[in-house]
Amino acid sequence: MNDLRDLYREIILDHNRHPRNFGELPDADRVVEGVNPLCGDRITLYLKLANDTVQDIKFNGTGCAISVASSSLMTERVKGLPATDVMALFERVHDMLTTGATDADAEGMDKLAALAGVREYPARVKCASLGWHALRTALTAQDDKISTE
Ligand code: ZN
Repeated sequence: MNDLRDLYREIILDHNRHPRNFGELPDADRVVEGVNPLCGDRITLYLKLANDTVQDIKFNGTGCAISVASSSLMTERVKGLPATDVMALFERVHDMLTTGATDADAEGMDKLAALAGVREYPARVKCASLGWHALRTALTAQDDKISTE
């Protein structure tokens, strides 16, 4: 279990130091700004859709290690996925972060399982979910701004 924790910590640190898909997407179809006032995390999510599939996705902004790593892991995972799969994944991640998913629930989560550890730090759950809420908002086109508060 300690080995797994170390692995998860490494994943978070790596994605914080070298965020994937970091930057702007000039031809994005949707742009959503997300803020987490509690921690001071701010991200802008850029999404390009084609045939209801995530053709490209990028994000930029500033925030704590958890918010940056979570958004980085998210963009890496959802690129190329149909919107319906992304929404299903959002629900699974949301459950994992908020309700204490079991190991069985983490199956197939791959690197995203690294985020499960934040459950032990309630103040960090909003950091980890910020990018995901921005993504859901981008897909459902509800708004162009979200706040975790
Ligand atoms: Zn944060």
